Amino acid sequence: MVIRARLGRSRWKTAALTSAALLVPLLATTAQAAPRDGSAALRTGFERTHGQHWTTQSEEEEFLRAVDAAGRRVTLDTIGRTEQGRPLRLARIGAPSPEGPAKVRRGNSLLLICSQHGNEPAGREACLSTIRDLAFAEDRATQRFLSATTVLVVPTANPDGRAADTRGNADGVDINRDHLALETAEARAMAAVLRDYRPDTVYDLHEYGAHEPYYVKDLLSLWPRNLNTAKGVHKESVTLSEKYARPSAEDSGHTTGIYGIWTDPQTGEPVKQVAGDGQERILRNTVGVKGGVGLLAETRIEPLTGADKGDEARNNRRRVGAHLAALEGAFDFTGERRARIEKATGAARRAGFADRGPVYLGGADNERPAEEQVLDDPPCGYRLTGDQFEDVEPVLDLHGVRAEPRRGGGVLVPLRQSQRALVPLLLDPRAEFALTAGAPVRDCG
Ligand SMILES: [Zn+2]
Repeated sequence: MVIRARLGRSRWKTAALTSAALLVPLLATTAQAAPRDGSAALRTGFERTHGQHWTTQSEEEEFLRAVDAAGRRVTLDTIGRTEQGRPLRLARIGAPSPEGPAKVRRGNSLLLICSQHGNEPAGREACLSTIRDLAFAEDRATQRFLSATTVLVVPTANPDGRAADTRGNADGVDINRDHLALETAEARAMAAVLRDYRPDTVYDLHEYGAHEPYYVKDLLSLWPRNLNTAKGVHKESVTLSEKYARPSAEDSGHTTGIYGIWTDPQTGEPVKQVAGDGQERILRNTVGVKGGVGLLAETRIEPLTGADKGDEARNNRRRVGAHLAALEGAFDFTGERRARIEKATGAARRAGFADRGPVYLGGADNERPAEEQVLDDPPCGYRLTGDQFEDVEPVLDLHGVRAEPRRGGGVLVPLRQSQRALVPLLLDPRAEFALTAGAPVRDCG
């Protein structure tokens, strides 16, 4: 593990250094074609002020445009627009950047979702600088990595919330509780990315509030706890957390732990669980249900040490630095375990077509579900009336869930499909976050 971490770290350190070193000649070139401030445009507002302020929306636009214009590895898409009219961006990164979803699906892909909560800005800063660093890294290892991997980045998942420094979006909705119902433009855009690109790994960057002395680590991470997550995918997700993201952050001098668990400061033993359940509408879990490897990464907002306390910019740099260090681990994970990841996600997505095994409406990998939350012998599908279907069709479509028209009106939504477990979660009358109460069908012949 130490060797892996060292190898990995030196590789990505090299990438970062190379890109920084590259900036000088590259800027010299772009400066001729670009406006006079073109050189500054390849640094985020956060970097330019050494952490004194978070990158503004206009700085982000300028930065992404400059990165996009300067090379062939990054392509920028607009995947939606918020209530207040701000664009939702997706950066596709590869060597060269993939032309579209069909190209990505064949390769191994990693999706970064950054700052779904607008008042948790550090993840977004880590994502923005990562886009640039991957775009310009010249070392062999990074080039090899990018020739076999697509990195997708939604750098600002909640632009209205970021502008207002609020957790929710402009309507006050928590986007990270909307990944089933898809009522927000932000969650709809992300669902479409999950459906179209089918990323093997989804990495979700957040921040959390400390509670001394039990909940104080620089970085916390957590995998999908939802019980519908396929075994192989669950195993890879735990591996990403415990063998890659956390060790990588620790190697950079950050303390780490598991999200949602308070621990005794003396013994390190768990004291109680305060968050991090198996709820299927949280992205970390939705991704697992959909057959992808998932990870939530959270950095601590508050300064706890003397030096950080007296220096806000320094504390901000720690928050972003902890995310960057854990992300290096995610890149190592993707590069080193490529075959195992693809095997796990491929098997999870094919398993639905066999239509076998229980579906869980509750519980978690550390919490036994109640008896009535286990569909031991699930129906073969759910019948929806024409009116019901009209209401939910756009959402089913965004989830990539297939429905079959029925004679006499309405549709049947069969479980025998790739997103099998998602069907009862969306349509069973007993599911906590169901879109509508479908009628369970026992004979789908
Ligand atoms: Zn959050």
